[in-house]
Amino acid sequence: MILINHIRQIVCISDSYQSFKIGTDMSNLHIIEDGAIIIQGERIYELGSSNDILSHYSPDNFTEIYDASDMCLIPGLVDAHTHVVFSGDRVHEFAMKLEGKSYMEIQAAGGGITFTTSHVRESSEEELYNLLIPRLDRMLAFGTTLAEAKSGYGLELDSEVKMLKVIKKANEEHTIDLVATYLPGHAVNPGKTAQEMVDDIVNHQIPVIKQLKDNGEINPEMIDVFCEKNVYEIEETKAILEAGKRIGLEANFHGEEIEYLESGVLAASVKARAMSHLENLSEQAIPLMAEAGVIGVLLPTTQYLLHLKTPPARSMIANGVPVAIGTDFNPNMWCLSMPLAMHMACVNYRLSMAEALVASTLNAAASMGRSQEYGSIEPRKYADLVFIKAERWEHLIYQMADPPIAAVWKKGKIVIDKYDRFRLK
Ligand SMILES: [Zn+2]
Repeated sequence: MILINHIRQIVCISDSYQSFKIGTDMSNLHIIEDGAIIIQGERIYELGSSNDILSHYSPDNFTEIYDASDMCLIPGLVDAHTHVVFSGDRVHEFAMKLEGKSYMEIQAAGGGITFTTSHVRESSEEELYNLLIPRLDRMLAFGTTLAEAKSGYGLELDSEVKMLKVIKKANEEHTIDLVATYLPGHAVNPGKTAQEMVDDIVNHQIPVIKQLKDNGEINPEMIDVFCEKNVYEIEETKAILEAGKRIGLEANFHGEEIEYLESGVLAASVKARAMSHLENLSEQAIPLMAEAGVIGVLLPTTQYLLHLKTPPARSMIANGVPVAIGTDFNPNMWCLSMPLAMHMACVNYRLSMAEALVASTLNAAASMGRSQEYGSIEPRKYADLVFIKAERWEHLIYQMADPPIAAVWKKGKIVIDKYDRFRLK
């Protein structure tokens, strides 16, 4: 067993194995001052105040003992929404956006998702994998230990499967754990109607996805659609989500980003696990989402880049919607840093730092069905831990561009150790 003691603050998030947090409870972080944690194998064995823990054990009980009196500890960060697999960057489109072109105008001119799709279709699995790994390394350095990862740049069966295979391989081989989302409805292929796409997805793609999943070749757990005016509207989105649910995929989709469509009501009615974006979420959808337990995933980076409306985050929290945060890393919005996304959620959506941390740990884990093993510091959960070299944990968000992350432990192993404080194995 490994002991790390005299930790300035252990920010546990939960002390009762909550699945997610809502309302005023999002401000309750269960902080232990001068704390100690015991790690056994991949998991947390015990934690408490240093005095308590040290009085119950002798040094002989431990193979390694570390002092962390200049550091605070939070759970590994969880990124609730990423499009991390792709080839072909879109830096040229960033220039177009600065000139005032809208996201949909760029898309209509052959850019956007269409541009990325043509690159992804031409890339081999190996090329996509080799582009993915350094991105995951960067995410880990920013404290992310679990992330959602979508397909969605294939828009036809073979390329979607190729992306899902890349995600499965990276989940097995990279330190970060990935939860795969099959995103067949990210855009409508040029020359096709949305209904033709829906027919292909429901009748042709989804049966094969099920078969490949049953064979263990891919492992998507969720299904996603870009529910947007002139892309996939409510009925089309519903048809795809329900077809996915019939093969056991949870609905976790894009809604209310650019134009209001009442996707929040759809999310509640199909009992989606989560809905992302929410910039145009209506007040009447909020209590329905709360009642259905749909997690609202905020993506403050994209909202900022595209000058979208501010989502009603305060109303969501006040009305009991569990709120999570994601980077939305994708070729349109190049951000791998959860601390930066958290900072933006605090400043632009008026989340408290405590709410932003819950949204980026436990609630984000819940948005991908992983909050029983990830997202809080509690015995038996995975020892996914981020050490912050500061007097208080809030420096993670306050020091927005260069957060003082000193070390990252993943499943009981030290994987990043900036100041040589732990023994790398
Ligand atoms: Zn997205």
